[in-house]
Amino acid sequence: MAKIVAVLYPDPVDGYPPKYARDSIPVIDSYPDGQTAPKPEAVDFTPGELLGCVSGELGLRAFLESQGHILVVTSDKDGPDSAFERELPDADVVISQPFWPAYLTAERIAKAPQLKLAITAGIGSDHVDLNAAIKHGVTVAEATWSNSISVAEHTVMQVLALVRNYLPSHEWVTTKKGWNIADSVSRAYDLEGLTAGVIAAGRIGQAVLRRLKPFQVTLAYTDKHRLAPDIEEELGLQFYPDIPALARNVDVLCVHAPLVPETYQLFNEELIGTMRRGSYIVNTARGAIMDTGAVVRAIDSGQLAGYAGDVWYPQPPPADHPWRTMPHNGMTAHVAGSTLSAQARYAAGAREILEAWLAGKPIRDEYLIVDGGKLAGTGARSYTASGNGSSPGSTGL
Ligand code: NAD
Repeated sequence: MAKIVAVLYPDPVDGYPPKYARDSIPVIDSYPDGQTAPKPEAVDFTPGELLGCVSGELGLRAFLESQGHILVVTSDKDGPDSAFERELPDADVVISQPFWPAYLTAERIAKAPQLKLAITAGIGSDHVDLNAAIKHGVTVAEATWSNSISVAEHTVMQVLALVRNYLPSHEWVTTKKGWNIADSVSRAYDLEGLTAGVIAAGRIGQAVLRRLKPFQVTLAYTDKHRLAPDIEEELGLQFYPDIPALARNVDVLCVHAPLVPETYQLFNEELIGTMRRGSYIVNTARGAIMDTGAVVRAIDSGQLAGYAGDVWYPQPPPADHPWRTMPHNGMTAHVAGSTLSAQARYAAGAREILEAWLAGKPIRDEYLIVDGGKLAGTGARSYTASGNGSSPGSTGL
């Protein structure tokens, strides 16, 4: 018998289940590189349902309880008196979504001697202290690809929203009941002809490049693994050897690198100061890649023309977080990867991982971040274990 603790975001304020806008979602069987979508033995939900909140339970309760396991679901995750902290000491498995991260710090992992598996329902396991997971033999696995395209679409939407000044223009006709054309267009440009750069051309970054190409922009990127020459040629990509070189040569910068020691607080005043005046940043990777105050100051001074994304730190951010109110922002809560379409895939992915682990079978290599006391699978390619014993995303900052 295993105890599984799932930390999920709170239910909708109007109650659960919500009234769904559509009756079904498309069936996606495989991803752009040929990897198959999650294939658990069965699922106990209808794809298209809201699964990522507490009442949605990722559709896991019937399956786990039918096998005699215990499932605890809570959204109460922060501080020493939280339900998460109370349930952790005898937990075998923790499931969390990056949207509502259950920060598995080194201290918390030390308090959970039975913990063997941390599942990220989604992508991005920086909320787990990976060094502590390595040290304590905890396997970390995520549902690779499950929401990559969801995030790429959100990124392109936010690029267009910023460059075309969409949100203020919408507000002029709705909240403000106006017809203020001059006010709306005073900051509106076409994307066509600009240079758009992507930091990290992994699953999401490459999908963003492919979606931006038809807008007839000049495309550029950097990544610690350079893409194959045929892909660079097909997309017409300019490669830059490092992030600073890319940042100073683009008009629009999209961030898709994981939060690792090299990217933690990378965008400070100095780096942003080297960018072209009036650049836009869209960051759907992780909030802690930015120095919060430096972004605010750059928006205020006009060095940045706009900032958007859906990632913050901590999550949830306080009511007075300056990105909520700074001008020219297109921020959303961390929702890009939690569309109903994505939830069906990552809930099935979480079940597939659990089915394998409970049966003592190997977890798919592409789902692994840490296994056997080292970075493994996707983790070995995309993550860096920090040498100083701290993992930036798991600090709860
Ligand atoms: P991926 O593993 O496919 O790609 C990551 C890429 O980053 C790899 O190509 C890797 O080489 C590159 N990289 C790593 N460190 C780098 C560095 N220091 N400099 C340059 N390149 C570096 O991952 P993905 O599926 O594309 O996801 C990327 C990130 O997006 C995740 O780690 C996560 O933080 C974030 N994400 C956000 C959401 C959301 O809802 N907003 C959802 C999913 C993922």
